[in-house]
Amino acid sequence: MGLVVAWAITNLFSLGKASDAILSENYRSILAAENMVDALERQDSGMLIMFLGDIEKGIIQFRENEAIFFQWLARAKDNITIKGEAELVQSIEKDYSAYRNKSASITDLRGTADASLPPDLYQKMVYPLFAKVRAACIGLRNLNEDTMYAASVKAGGVARRAIWSTGFVAASALIVALIFSLLLAERIVRPIRRFMEASRRISSGDYAVQVNVETGDEFGRLAGEFNQMIQQLDRYHEMNIEQIISEKNKGEAILSSIEDGLVVFDKMLRVTGINPAARQLLNLGFAESSTLQCMDILQEPHFCDLIRRTLETGVQPNVPDEQRIIVLPDREGDRFYLFSVTTIRGRDRNLSGIVLLLRDVTRLKEVEQLKSEFVMAASHELRTPLTSLSMSIDLLLEHATQGCAAKDQDLLQAAHEEVHRMKALVSDLLDLSRIEAGRIELEFEGVPVSTLFDHVEVVFKNQMAMKAVSLTSKITDNMPDVRADANKITWVLTNLISNALRYVSKGGHIGLLAHRIGPHVHLSVQDDGPGIPPEYQSRIFQKFVQVKDREPGGTGLGLAICKEIVRAHGGAIWVESSAGGGSTFTFTLPAAQ
Ligand code: ADP
Repeated sequence: MGLVVAWAITNLFSLGKASDAILSENYRSILAAENMVDALERQDSGMLIMFLGDIEKGIIQFRENEAIFFQWLARAKDNITIKGEAELVQSIEKDYSAYRNKSASITDLRGTADASLPPDLYQKMVYPLFAKVRAACIGLRNLNEDTMYAASVKAGGVARRAIWSTGFVAASALIVALIFSLLLAERIVRPIRRFMEASRRISSGDYAVQVNVETGDEFGRLAGEFNQMIQQLDRYHEMNIEQIISEKNKGEAILSSIEDGLVVFDKMLRVTGINPAARQLLNLGFAESSTLQCMDILQEPHFCDLIRRTLETGVQPNVPDEQRIIVLPDREGDRFYLFSVTTIRGRDRNLSGIVLLLRDVTRLKEVEQLKSEFVMAASHELRTPLTSLSMSIDLLLEHATQGCAAKDQDLLQAAHEEVHRMKALVSDLLDLSRIEAGRIELEFEGVPVSTLFDHVEVVFKNQMAMKAVSLTSKITDNMPDVRADANKITWVLTNLISNALRYVSKGGHIGLLAHRIGPHVHLSVQDDGPGIPPEYQSRIFQKFVQVKDREPGGTGLGLAICKEIVRAHGGAIWVESSAGGGSTFTFTLPAAQ
């Protein structure tokens, strides 16, 4: 740009010079020549005026224009710039002075003649000189006009040359600038490409990369920083790998040292980890665990469904203990395992897998079985002496009390109540241990829910009336029959209603409800009693658990018996309650097809 501008200025300058030359060299001389011709012609006309008789006027005009002529002649002399001009001016000066002399001599003749001049005098003496000076002046003008024309032709040439040369210089400058900008762009882009390539390799895990930019500019400095960053990343990467490997080894060591079976599933239900104990109990040998799916290791669809649901919902399943038992065959017979499912969460709290723990509870089961059998035997043995004891006390109370002191009668009454409580306890214990030991045969049949409800309503009619408690039942439409042993389920309902009746206050209300959810029928006993504190709600189905500071009288086995009966039917039982807000005991039974 600088070059082009300099070149253009030079050309404009020379063009200016050319026009200036025209002005200074020729235009002033032309002007002078023109004015000299003008002045001369007026002088000549002044002369003619004299010849025509008006001598005074002619002389005045002659003299006025003489001064003008000299003035322009002086300018012409000052502006002699071209060849031949000096000679021409000299001849004008010389001829004009001759013309003046001749004119002076003519004006001097005024006195001699009688104020008139012979006309041929003009023709002979004045006109030739006038014509000569005029011709010289015109010659001067023509010379300058020719020179001016030549100068303008020359200026045109200069302008043309200026256009071409400026165009050429501009085009050259453009090409050079283009080449430079391409080279420069390439020079800038090359290191950026190297950075891009390096970043790509780093993101694919290759840290053995370096960016070579050997310039001292910003790119060079950036490359230095970049290389340092890669080294740091490499170091962190190594450290991470070491840490991951050590964490993995630690995890594997923990897995191997645990005696319970542990299986880790990923989000796709694939097995990603399995410990030796789990391999053994699932009879997997050395099968490659990474190709195994849930169904390959445990052929129980409901179990795999549970794990799938856990993965879908991301929530640990809340399954009752009795449904968390799975039975796996072993060389020495069946073994029982209590499973628990724990979710694994990633850094973003998203579910990334599941850990399945299989705890061997066979031994516990056996101990429980032994305990049940012992309780069963003990209660069986206790039942006969207790019955005779109760009968004796009853007889004593009936026949021998007339002669007894009031104190003795009270004692007998207390013994009667305690024996009855013991009988109830022994009877409950026997029932429970029988159910637990699987000694009670269930006779399944399709039973209408209304039959069950009607039956218990009849049984409790009097007790309800005595306590002024209302009992209502509500069964939703299209209620299917339930697949159950009617007697055992009546037992469950009786237990639940007698509990409710015990705890509702006078004038209270007990409701029986039944509705269907999927393949199950939910049966509920609802009361508006004192409710059950939250800390007891999960425990009251265990044996001998009773809510503190409640009216005594029960054995603490009623709900445990209910739970066992419901479990034997393939259902579940639970309570919903709030302190002071009543309780709702619900159990499920399969709908009969
Ligand atoms: P019990 O023979 O003592 O009633 P259960 O196993 O039937 O034993 O009940 C366990 C405990 O649960 C009871 O002691 C009682 O405190 C509480 N319970 C049971 N049913 C109700 C109810 N409907 N309302 C309030 N508390 C109840």
